[in-house]
Amino acid sequence: MTYTPSKPIPYARQSISDQEIKAVTEVLKGDWLTQGPMIEKVEAQIAEICNAKHALLVSNCTAALHLSFLALELKKGSAFITSPISFVASSNAGLYCDLIPKFCDVEPETILLNPAKLRVMLESDRNIKAIVSVHFAGYPCYLEEIYALAKEFNVAVIEDAAHAFAGTWTNHSGKKFKIGNGQLSDLTVFSFHPAKQFTMGEGGAILTNNSVLFKKLEKLRTHGITRDPSLWAQNDGGWYYEMQSLGYNYRITDIQAALGHEQLKRTEEFRTKRRTLMQRYDAVFADKKFIALQKRPAFFEDLSYHLYVVRVQNRDRLYVFLRERKIYCQVHYIPIHLQPYYKKNFAFKKGDFPEAEKYYAEALSLPLYPDLSFAEQDYVIENILEFFS
Ligand SMILES: *Cc1c(COP(=O)(O)O)cnc(C)c1O
Repeated sequence: MTYTPSKPIPYARQSISDQEIKAVTEVLKGDWLTQGPMIEKVEAQIAEICNAKHALLVSNCTAALHLSFLALELKKGSAFITSPISFVASSNAGLYCDLIPKFCDVEPETILLNPAKLRVMLESDRNIKAIVSVHFAGYPCYLEEIYALAKEFNVAVIEDAAHAFAGTWTNHSGKKFKIGNGQLSDLTVFSFHPAKQFTMGEGGAILTNNSVLFKKLEKLRTHGITRDPSLWAQNDGGWYYEMQSLGYNYRITDIQAALGHEQLKRTEEFRTKRRTLMQRYDAVFADKKFIALQKRPAFFEDLSYHLYVVRVQNRDRLYVFLRERKIYCQVHYIPIHLQPYYKKNFAFKKGDFPEAEKYYAEALSLPLYPDLSFAEQDYVIENILEFFS
């Protein structure tokens, strides 16, 4: 082997340049640390990139999911469906609103929610009022099929696009959509955690084309308070602000937004680098019998990719083998229904979602991030090949 890493190679890592450091420092020297001018700037930037009418920045994507559920005003005790192969936040946010979690098993090849199974669930349970669809690893879930089902059964759709920022998706008839453009869901959420497509340290956004929902979200982000006098019931004087619903403090800071503003300028750079690295992995792994890959959607080039997942028979041993060689892979995800909290409170058990569980036993996410060098990637590849030789 020609290369030895000087420090561990993680599965994901942020890319920070001097521009970002300078922009954050400028904010620190200025007048606003929390809600300042950078926030609206970044909201406009995100809405433009994603082709959406409205974008709201919040403290993280979990908050974005929580506020999305709140804005939909679903009755307590209503149910929602999400994928068992997602981060727990996709489901937890519904629990914050006293909703009942349901899971729909994934398609074995794409690891996306299976629309045929969704239909069966919606037909048999009229208490289901929302779907949280997950663009797992950046692969777009069946947007058109799911939105059509939502219309038919009168349920809301929240797109969990934490993995898929700036992806352009092409439908069956060749029409291009930006993920989050609001044409095939009610709300879309993104995460700006350092492991995702780009980062603000922590951060999240909610996109929608529905102005009524957007107005509610704006208030909910900051305690249910509005400062717009035209909406007030009364006016006590210059100091007055009015709380009209029970909201939260889910604000993000101008410091974070400044970081985001610079990172967003690098969106295409990040997307291209990830795609190049994926193609380099593909070139080695695509024809290997001991590795199965997630099935690539059509129009692969236009999407944003977050994870490079391989499926192998002796995953646990491979994980340890790589770890000993300073390659820190990760497993995305432990099926949510198998978390002790979900088993205990909602009576889920092993065997409920066989495709998700089979996937979980075999999946490993390899290092994939913009600053991963070819030398580092080759080192990862050589070690995997050595393991199977
Ligand atoms: C990361 C992630 C979240 C949560 O994002 P935070 O910004 O960390 O709150 C939600 N859903 C999915 C699919 C994620 O990957």
